Amino acid sequence: MFDALTEKLQQTFKRMRNKGRLTEADVKEALREVRLALLEADVNFKVVREFLGRVEARAVGQDVLESLTPDQAVIRIVRDELIQLMGSHVERVHMASNPPTVIYMVGLQGAGKTTASAKLARMLRHQGRQPLLVAADIYRPAAIDQLKVLADKIQVPVVTEPSKTPVELAELGKAASRRMAKDVIIIDTAGRLHVDDDLMGELEAMNARIPANEMLLVVDAMTGQDAVRVAEAFKERLPLTGVVMTKLDGDARGGAALSIREVTQLPIKLVGSGEKLEDLEPFNPDRMASRILGMGDILTLIEKAEASMDREDTQALAEKITKADFTLDDFRAMIDQVKKLGPLSKVMEMMPGMGGKMAKMKDKVDDRSVVRVEAILNSMTKKERQRPEIIDGSRRLRIARGSGTTVQEVNRLLKQFDEIKKMMKQMKGKKGRMRMPRMPF
Ligand code: GDP
Repeated sequence: MFDALTEKLQQTFKRMRNKGRLTEADVKEALREVRLALLEADVNFKVVREFLGRVEARAVGQDVLESLTPDQAVIRIVRDELIQLMGSHVERVHMASNPPTVIYMVGLQGAGKTTASAKLARMLRHQGRQPLLVAADIYRPAAIDQLKVLADKIQVPVVTEPSKTPVELAELGKAASRRMAKDVIIIDTAGRLHVDDDLMGELEAMNARIPANEMLLVVDAMTGQDAVRVAEAFKERLPLTGVVMTKLDGDARGGAALSIREVTQLPIKLVGSGEKLEDLEPFNPDRMASRILGMGDILTLIEKAEASMDREDTQALAEKITKADFTLDDFRAMIDQVKKLGPLSKVMEMMPGMGGKMAKMKDKVDDRSVVRVEAILNSMTKKERQRPEIIDGSRRLRIARGSGTTVQEVNRLLKQFDEIKKMMKQMKGKKGRMRMPRMPF
């Protein structure tokens, strides 16, 4: 996601940094390049114009030019304004003070409504809520089955009944929530291929009978400015409260995510970042800006790590690392922990410095290479993992054969393990800057 935009912005800032002293003309030149990068990323042209107006007003001035690090000052301003553009803070899905909370998921067909409804149900369950899903996409029977399958996985009940109208289904949902003591109703409404009057009328009728606490418009980030136009059209008729932007994991250029808030004044509340049920996150403008600028998203990574790792294991590992008696056994445990974060390519995307050109590298680290590294480690004896220095030529050959890999791969792993160990010793010695070792996959 946003790879091309990130790469262009990084190039621009690199050129600016290499200039040494900056003049007003240098900053203006850099901002012209930022403008082009944003337009190429399909950001709405009015949004680009106003955004750059704001950035320029702050960046072209004596304060910035005479600061100690003018290049960093300019980047900071761009970052600040990107955050503002996307809404400045995390906008939560609000719960009604008097349950049940009614959430309508609306949008065009294929935007990802059904998937997002189930993902949201899962997220709310993890927050301790008791959600109930209503399958109201009656024109697409497959959508009802799809919702049932997804809901089954997360064990959330689905209300649906053949030959009922969407309005009746919303009513049934409300009645069922009372009966089943559920505090949130998520209604997956019908989509259409295009915005049309019938669809809007139907949604208005549902909302008139069972009023929404949240009416979330689901849009597909891959559709760029079309998503923004769809949002404008829906907003004209319906009391939308926010946007769920899906498919941010694809190669969306970023235009929709960067324009929709400014054009429609609707906050992006949630983003979909994959097809799996856990791939839904609150939208965080601050982190998104860092990601766009290639500064990584280490906070999301840490949160994911905290959510998925066993705290005691992590603690024990951290202690070993600082004691520098790190063995290949610990290394194997470390790989296990990293694997819990999700596919490696995703983990890498969130690491600082992995934006732009570096991001291409992530295509090379596939999870199969992790499997190979694990196979090598598993083919070693316990003694070998504890004391890798005993692994001589014949042992290397045996390990390679046992793991279905080559001696070269075994050598590479051992060499890189050595580097990691050295780095850990340095880390123990001084707290200064550390260089990340190359990981063996
Ligand atoms: P609906 O017609 O709006 O209900 O759309 P669906 O929920 O059926 O989604 C349409 C397609 O998009 C399905 O194949 C989903 O698996 C896929 N999809 C939905 N959300 C995401 C997402 O965040 N990332 C990716 N990669 N695919 C998604």
